[in-house]
Amino acid sequence: MKKLIYLDNAATTKTAPEVVEAMLPYFTEYYGNASSIYELAGESKKAMNEGRAKIADVLGANANEIYFTGGGSEADNWALKATYEAYKNKGNHIITTKIEHHAILHTCEWLEKQGAKITYLDVDENGIIRLEDLEKALTPETILISVMAANNEIGSIQPIKEIGAIAKEHGILFHTDAVQAFGQLPINVDECHIDMLSSSAHKINGPKGIGFLYIRKGVKIRSLIHGGAQERKRRAGTENIPGIVGYGVAAERAARTMEERTAKEREVRDYLINKIETEIPYCRLNGHRTLRLPNNVNFSFQFIEGESLLIMLDMEGICASSGSACTSGSLDPSHVLLAIGLPHEIAHGSLRLTISEETTKEDVDFVVEKIKEIVARLRSMSPLYEDFIKKQK
Ligand SMILES: *Cc1c(COP(=O)(O)O)cnc(C)c1O
Repeated sequence: MKKLIYLDNAATTKTAPEVVEAMLPYFTEYYGNASSIYELAGESKKAMNEGRAKIADVLGANANEIYFTGGGSEADNWALKATYEAYKNKGNHIITTKIEHHAILHTCEWLEKQGAKITYLDVDENGIIRLEDLEKALTPETILISVMAANNEIGSIQPIKEIGAIAKEHGILFHTDAVQAFGQLPINVDECHIDMLSSSAHKINGPKGIGFLYIRKGVKIRSLIHGGAQERKRRAGTENIPGIVGYGVAAERAARTMEERTAKEREVRDYLINKIETEIPYCRLNGHRTLRLPNNVNFSFQFIEGESLLIMLDMEGICASSGSACTSGSLDPSHVLLAIGLPHEIAHGSLRLTISEETTKEDVDFVVEKIKEIVARLRSMSPLYEDFIKKQK
């Protein structure tokens, strides 16, 4: 089998060996239900408390403000739906952005059907909101601001500290989807005045199907999942103990290695960006050059289809994405690329490469060589490109 080069770490990451190792005993040996009273269950409960404490530490939160969920999507759904439910008598207006993950956007569309008014803030050409727009959008009916910490497609980082300050000043709740940012960027919930924060383990070398919603003490949101009394009666269902253990180890590991790991990733990221810009004509970097996730690269190549590029890269053993995994299979261009002002035909020729700490400059050299070959081949088959070149002469 040829070497696999995995550059889709925004879609999911490889579970770290130390994470898997920490989880295993909670399948085979300590499999008790944490709600039971015998000693075996005590082991599960202890492990769960440790996992919760490790995660809380990373955010500067209290362990009893961390509520485990079945992933990032559930945490996003919960934050929005339950806040609306709890605060709709106070007001029905929610502010979010045009570039959120679908877990936020589709939930907002559902809430609109329930009577919510949603403002979707524009972003600038780099994918970052303008604070003046946020201030202008505030009304006496506004109950919640939900702005992602960093974007999953173009990596743009939002000014969450400033957004939190605005929310606090006006007595409005602030939720942030930090699924891409948690473990990649330092976040302190007090410094940023965050009331709720969503995260997911599988984006930081943890297991799939486990996430959490941080809910600041005093925020009175209700349950989304009804049933047993788990998670302080706010999220029913037998706890995913192996998942929580793995998440705790992954979070602790991400925080411990953050500085060194992200410095290395930034270097490889910028090497990749420079190489594409110098070697491949008619391309455009999407997202901000520096205010971007350390592992994110997103380019549009004129005169090609992103899907064709992906298939041909796959034949070379290279895993990449045309935007977000959730939109693949649909022919609509990414809502994020449209929001930064790309015309449809350019948005269609986009490629997202998200590196990991294991990605080397040699990998980058190989990948860029392949992209260059494939883009040239696809362009040679494009009548639009032919016309364009004729006009240049
Ligand atoms: C992946 C992702 C989600 C969804 O998380 P899941 O755990 O896969 O449900 C939500 N928001 C962002 C920004 C993401 O990248």
